[in-house]
Amino acid sequence: QEIFFYNISFSNLRGLNQPPLNSIDCDLIDISCAVCLHFKLFYEPVTTPCGHTFCLKCLERCLDHNAKCPLCKEGLSECLALRKYCKTVLMEELIAKYLPEELTERRKIYEEEIAELSNLNKNVPIFVCTMAYPTVPCPLHIFEPCYRLMIRRCMETGTKQFGMCIGDPKVNYPSRTVALVQYVVTEEIPLLLGENYAELLVLHDSVYDQAYMWFNSLKQPLKSRILSHFGPMPAKDPDPQASPNGPAWCWWVLAVLPLESRAQLPFLAMKSMKDRLNGIRRVLTFMSRTRSR
Ligand SMILES: [Zn+2]
Ligand SMILES: [Zn+2]
Repeated sequence: QEIFFYNISFSNLRGLNQPPLNSIDCDLIDISCAVCLHFKLFYEPVTTPCGHTFCLKCLERCLDHNAKCPLCKEGLSECLALRKYCKTVLMEELIAKYLPEELTERRKIYEEEIAELSNLNKNVPIFVCTMAYPTVPCPLHIFEPCYRLMIRRCMETGTKQFGMCIGDPKVNYPSRTVALVQYVVTEEIPLLLGENYAELLVLHDSVYDQAYMWFNSLKQPLKSRILSHFGPMPAKDPDPQASPNGPAWCWWVLAVLPLESRAQLPFLAMKSMKDRLNGIRRVLTFMSRTRSR
């Protein structure tokens, strides 16, 4: 089922707001993308400066690997740096006009793919990389093609979410890692349980002060490094339970403490804020003891 359009002059970089095309070019115009040939139809066609047309998603994926046109190998670094792709409006309109059924079918395939990626519990894309804590900035430099694709898809699905985990060096992760996730919710102590809540407040305040003192006792170069990477230590929360993730300063301290990731990990799984605070206190006490020795 090869379909060609004849006698349509076709300049790939022309949008509809450009002068009409009058000249007749007898080149055959193929409507299938050289990357995803089996679908037999472009989806969101875009054209490179070298004049080759691909589906937008196909071109993006190719450029993740190599900044060259997948067909003629012309360098496309400039086009990539601009991150602006010219949609080939003419091609899109021709397809919509002459092949509406095929286009509907093609769109369905695309939408199914996106729907599958939109579930927030099942098949959550996972970036095997480093530990990330709630509210603590985690700068990522993403260069592997599989992860670039993952992030782009996340941005498209509307959930804009993905998971992160530390990798096990003994495990060889597949290029597309997904997980069935379970959310960890910090258990709230009701204000009505006055005594328990008051206890939590005292613990919260004293661990905060301890952490604050520990940070201020660090040598200046280390302090500056921490500040430039993680920002300043968040302020003490008047109500430690105000945020569902607990106080931001706790996560900041955990990210900053010189702990191995295996030692940091259990803190993320704790459902009790009391346990988390006590754990931080233990680490801080250990740190100050080893230093004073
Ligand atoms: Zn394609
Ligand atoms: Zn090309």
